[in-house]
Amino acid sequence: MKKSRILRSDFWVIRKMLKIGVIGFQGDVIEHIEAMKKAIELHKRHGTVLWVRKKEDLADLSALIIPGGESTTISRLIERRGMRDSIIEMAENGVPIMGTCAGCILMAKVGDEEVIRSDTRLLSLMDMEVQRNAFGRQRESFEADIEIEGIGKFHAIFIRAPLIKRVWGKCKAMAYVDEGIVMAVQGNLLAMAFHPELGQDYRIHHLFLQMI
Ligand code: GLN
Repeated sequence: MKKSRILRSDFWVIRKMLKIGVIGFQGDVIEHIEAMKKAIELHKRHGTVLWVRKKEDLADLSALIIPGGESTTISRLIERRGMRDSIIEMAENGVPIMGTCAGCILMAKVGDEEVIRSDTRLLSLMDMEVQRNAFGRQRESFEADIEIEGIGKFHAIFIRAPLIKRVWGKCKAMAYVDEGIVMAVQGNLLAMAFHPELGQDYRIHHLFLQMI
């Protein structure tokens, strides 16, 4: 009988319990938790996904998601709960962080006048400039089939979305709409202007999972 060998790397994947946090002050938190759980289940990984509301919740996380919602409110609460420095430190230590929509804004180094006027303090993690509410009234919310590098065609949902105006340095654009860049990656950091947690396509959560 032929025995199948378990490689050390397989063993590591089997054993490693992932602990993924979603910043949970407001916005589409539950949707991200559910999508992440689905991606974990579909790809036979093991782990938990939890709400992050205070600094202590950030301890030992394998990855962190900053959801959509209202970027000014999320940034204020991150600041008020003393979580800002810990998140920056996590990013520097290579912990994967994914920011979607409002979260995408917070990942950026540079914001537009609206970001400045609203006193939103960016986490300044990625070499990119964002424009808040970039699509104007006509296109406030819309859906579009976009082409994502490494994933392929993806049905993306935009809700009062920002646009990534430009990327530089180690930050690379991954997807576009006519107006500009809507998804970018920089090492362990991932940002997108749309909502990958809405709908039943878990490929972006899976991609994020693979970054861990
Ligand atoms: N317009 C919101 C902001 O600027 C983002 C919208 C969203 O996350 N769906 O913060």
